[in-house]
Amino acid sequence: MSDNCLFCKIAAGQIPSNKVYEDDAVIAFHDINPVAKVHFLIVPKHHVRSLLETTADDAAMLGKLLALAPKLAREQGLTEGFRTMINTGEQGGQSVFHLHLHVFGGGGKAETMMAQLIQ
Ligand code: AMP
Ligand code: ZN
Repeated sequence: MSDNCLFCKIAAGQIPSNKVYEDDAVIAFHDINPVAKVHFLIVPKHHVRSLLETTADDAAMLGKLLALAPKLAREQGLTEGFRTMINTGEQGGQSVFHLHLHVFGGGGKAETMMAQLIQ
């Protein structure tokens, strides 16, 4: 756990979240500021700052995040499709520096959602 990391604190249950899924290695919860009808984040519990800090050793963890996306999206009602996104670094629009995969969709045009997310 990294000091003063919001998503480490959420993963440890020290800060509440609207949880979608949890297991030993991963937690998923609804984004506090959704850009679509459904918008949740899939987060490894182990602290990794961003995709830039990952190595080949993280391949299984990264695969797990991606593999969970369609399962959880379906459970949240996104049966017709959704967007996934990982912002990396300040230049990549990242604001919380603990790796996370955005999954969002439903009730909006994808272009509008994207425009909001890259503001
Ligand atoms: P990013 O800009 O890719 O780093 O995404 C960070 C996301 O975390 C944003 O979409 C925020 O709305 C979301 N967020 C920030 N604080 C919380 C929180 N306490 N619970 C859930 N989502 C949050
Ligand atoms: Zn963290």
